[in-house]
Amino acid sequence: MSKMQPNILLIYTGGTIGMVKDFKTGALRAFNFKNLLKSIPELNLLDCKIESVSFETPIDSSNMNPDYWVKIAKIIEINYDNFDGFVVLHGSDTMSYTASALSFMLENLAKPIVFTGSQLPIGDLRTDAKENLITSIQVASLQYRNKPVIKEVCLYFEYKLYRANRTTKINAEHFEAFSSPNYPDLAESGVHLKVNKNQLFSPNLRKKLTVHKKLNNNVALIKLFPGISETLLESIFNTPNLEGVILETYGSGNCTTEAWFIDLLKTNIIKGIHIINVTQCPSGSVIMGHYETSSQLKKIGVISGKDITTEAAISKLMYLLANNVSKDVFKIVYETPLRGEMT
Ligand code: ASP
Repeated sequence: MSKMQPNILLIYTGGTIGMVKDFKTGALRAFNFKNLLKSIPELNLLDCKIESVSFETPIDSSNMNPDYWVKIAKIIEINYDNFDGFVVLHGSDTMSYTASALSFMLENLAKPIVFTGSQLPIGDLRTDAKENLITSIQVASLQYRNKPVIKEVCLYFEYKLYRANRTTKINAEHFEAFSSPNYPDLAESGVHLKVNKNQLFSPNLRKKLTVHKKLNNNVALIKLFPGISETLLESIFNTPNLEGVILETYGSGNCTTEAWFIDLLKTNIIKGIHIINVTQCPSGSVIMGHYETSSQLKKIGVISGKDITTEAAISKLMYLLANNVSKDVFKIVYETPLRGEMT
């Protein structure tokens, strides 16, 4: 079988990676992606063809929202058949949210979508952007018998490839800015690019890609803390149109057993609001019923987020709410791993 050069589409959404420093003034300005190959000649050495598209107005990822997620999904959908892999350049601040959301929105994905960014601009002398960009393109180009090796949404940063919906940003300064606390790395880049084949997601290849472009942001994220007041929680639950809440609890999914708290949750579950229990711990899983302080949650119908990250939990909630999953099966569907986001 003759080897074809894979076609890779770079999608630039914004973030530090796409900036260059004007060495005279020291100011950062957006990089012109049309001149990508000229500006980073190393890219010509890669064994693939690269094209790029950019948001008309690149954004800092702190300004990301579900409308932009849809925009990225549409770019992928339009170009899906013409490219073998996609690299999304994105600010690191909310990269795990966007990449998690995309993992749900792109059902039956059979090609690699690699999110990457950097802590220093691509034009900076000590930049981490070049390695992140070059290896992400290499990862997106990996093929076996002319078929992509990676068939899921992943995130590449500082020598490691992660399943995107398992990641979280852990450091605002270090080049190693992400971690995947509850799932092994998909690949590691050293002298060789070592792919952890057993950990890769295997989609149903007989099904065609379905791009879900609706998200429902009638959701809330509540982090419990000792002393959280009834008034505060009531006001959140009284938010008009609220449909789902991610509740960040302690340890393996524990919370206060005070009657007012459990009653408040119970009343809202009866009203039809979905409540998902996610742990505040950076790693480990919710196990409701393990302690007395979580048994009541289980009894009243709180959904277990198991070992999902908060980023994946919130985007999964927005995705399922928008896809009209019926109230009776919502708990079962939420507790089922859809894209490898929970164990
Ligand atoms: N604030 C930037 C952003 O997330 C940081 C970065 O690019 O890494 O867009």
